[in-house]
Amino acid sequence: MARHLARIHGTEEDKVNCPFYFKIGACRHADRCSRIHHRPAFSQTILIKHVYRHPIREAELKAAREGRGVDGAIVDEEGAREDFLAFFEDFFQELSKFGRLEALHVCDNLGDHMIGHVYAKFAEEEEAADALNVMNGRYYDGRRMEVEFSPVTDFREARCRDFDEDTCRRGGFCNFMHIKPVPLCLVRDMEDEAEDERRREEMERMERRRREERRDHRGGGGDRRRGRRDRERKGGRRGGGGSRSRSRSRSHSKSGSRDRGGGSGVRYE
Ligand SMILES: [Zn+2]
Ligand SMILES: [Zn+2]
Repeated sequence: MARHLARIHGTEEDKVNCPFYFKIGACRHADRCSRIHHRPAFSQTILIKHVYRHPIREAELKAAREGRGVDGAIVDEEGAREDFLAFFEDFFQELSKFGRLEALHVCDNLGDHMIGHVYAKFAEEEEAADALNVMNGRYYDGRRMEVEFSPVTDFREARCRDFDEDTCRRGGFCNFMHIKPVPLCLVRDMEDEAEDERRREEMERMERRRREERRDHRGGGGDRRRGRRDRERKGGRRGGGGSRSRSRSRSHSKSGSRDRGGGSGVRYE
C-alpha cells in the first residue's frame, strides 16, 4: 500500500496530491484546487512569483491604459529580448550571492498562476533558505517579491517539451513551464563570474578570520603563541607542506572552491 502511494504520488492517478503543483510548483486552481498542494518546508528550489514583467501582458496593460483594446497591444520584440536578458543577469547575479545556482528559469507562460514566475535551484537547501529569507518582501522594479520554497527540483518533468521544440499548441496558456531560452555562453560567463565572486569573498573571510586569530593569540600571552608555532611546525614536517598546499589553493585554482571548509581556515582551529 505504502509503495503504491509512493509510486502514484503527484501523478494523475493520485487523487489526493495535485500533480500540477507537485511537478510544476503552480496549479491554475490555486487554493481552490480539490487536491492537496503540499508545500515543502525546505527545498533546493525557490519560486519568486510573478516578478518578471511579461512583455505581452505589459503591452496589453499599456494598450488598455491608452484606451485601445487588447488587439492594440504591440510588443517590441527586440526590446523585450534585451530587457529579458538584463532581467536574467540581474537575478543570476543577485541569487548567486547565496550559493551556486544549478538552475535559473524564467517562465514565458501567460496564465495567471504562472506568469512572470522565476525558479531558482541552488546546490544546497541552506542556500535556498538564505535566498528566500533575504529576497522575500524585497522590491524589484517596483514589485514586492513573494518567494516560496518550490517542490520542483527536476525541471525535465516541469518543462513543456513542445515549447522547447517550438511546437506547443497551447501557447502561453499551457500549464507546463515554458522556460525562456537563454544563450548558453551567457550562462557560462555568469557562472564563472559568480564563482570568482564567491571565491573572492571566501578568501576575504579566511583572511579576516586569520587576522582575528592572530589578534587573539597576541592578546592571549606567550604560552598560547608558542603552542601555535609548535603546531605549525609539526604540521609542516608531517604533511611535507600542508601550509604550502593551502597557499596554493588560495592564490588560484578552481578546485578549492567546491570543498568550502575543507581547504579553508576551518582546519586551522
Ligand atoms: Zn492543484
Ligand atoms: Zn506548452
